[in-house]
Amino acid sequence: MLPRIMHAAVVETFGAPLVLGELPVPEPGPGQILVKTEACGVCHTDLHAAHGDWPSRPSLPFVPGHEGIGVVAGVGAGVDRVKEGDRVGVPWLYSACGRCEHCLSGWETVCEAAQFSGYTRNGGFAEYILADPNYVALVPRGLSASEAAPIICAGVTAYKGIKMTEARPGEWIVISGAGGLGHLGIQYARAMGLHVCAVDVDGGKLEHAQRLGAEVLVDARQGDPVAAVRKATGGGAHGVLITAPSLPAFKQGVGMARRRGTCVLVGLPPGEFPVPLFDVVANCITIRGSFVGTRQDMAEALAFAAAGRVRADVETQPLSAINHVFDRLLRGDVPSRVVLEFGG
Ligand code: NAD
Ligand code: ZN
Ligand code: ZN
Repeated sequence: MLPRIMHAAVVETFGAPLVLGELPVPEPGPGQILVKTEACGVCHTDLHAAHGDWPSRPSLPFVPGHEGIGVVAGVGAGVDRVKEGDRVGVPWLYSACGRCEHCLSGWETVCEAAQFSGYTRNGGFAEYILADPNYVALVPRGLSASEAAPIICAGVTAYKGIKMTEARPGEWIVISGAGGLGHLGIQYARAMGLHVCAVDVDGGKLEHAQRLGAEVLVDARQGDPVAAVRKATGGGAHGVLITAPSLPAFKQGVGMARRRGTCVLVGLPPGEFPVPLFDVVANCITIRGSFVGTRQDMAEALAFAAAGRVRADVETQPLSAINHVFDRLLRGDVPSRVVLEFGG
């Protein structure tokens, strides 16, 4: 028997602390499943969502969280992809239409009808999550819930972003921002045969980046970080992945690209950044955005983790600590990823 009431952390007002309260346990309708949450990572995106940072804001109130891992506890009519007891992840891409030009070409992440977990749908900062079984991640055996949680947003986003740079084995990639996304990005890049230059504004993050295999470390607070990267990589990196939630990192990142290199933007601080037009044109630089990853990217990203090639560094906290975790994330005071663990 399922309980009727669950604990959840709710955004009632943008920019205010989340309200820890009780909500009714949702019932899975036809084509839906109910997931009993075991763990949910805390992404910097949850902070942007709770602050209403982006042009299209979620409707209030809502439950954030899009790195929710749990066990299927209920299935609605017509569900055959998963069954009760399976361990699944409820990622940012909650669902898509399945019929538009983007869905049909393996780009469901940009479907205009896409719904987002923890944004347009209630997410994983709660003891139960409703999900669309066609879009949940299937968690490989051997990965615990807390190990898998960061992979289903931070991991897949970094992995897809690296692929989008088109950097090839033996070439250089810059990972700008060595936090939640970045610490996994460094590991994916190494596993993909790339040389890694890590850029951050925090000494502890850079030391950690080195332990994870970054060969060049650049502290963006010191000297000229663009010149430092260009020198260390012999003319700039073939790929640049900007995960930093900070606008100055974007102009710098474009400057760090080699001639004909590709700079992939995934960090989402609100605002705009200046592009040095002449340099981008004359050096044939590509600048592209990248948004999480498709279900296929997700399966690949999880397979790296299941094979032990990539491991999230996780600090576990209870749901009741969420406001303190948000404060620390805002200050840059979370070493890699906090994962909320749900007991019982
Ligand atoms: P995080 O807070 O864990 O890590 C951010 C890192 O950036 C920290 O290590 C911080 O020290 C570093 N940093 C800050 N300013 C910097 C600068 N000027 N130069 C270099 N590094 C700097 O955050 P996270 O969870 O990794 O998320 C990062 C960003 O990515 C957020 O804006 C988030 O919304 C976005 N995001 C985008 C997608 C997507 O699909 N595009 C998916 C997930 C997250
Ligand atoms: Zn995220
Ligand atoms: Zn679609």
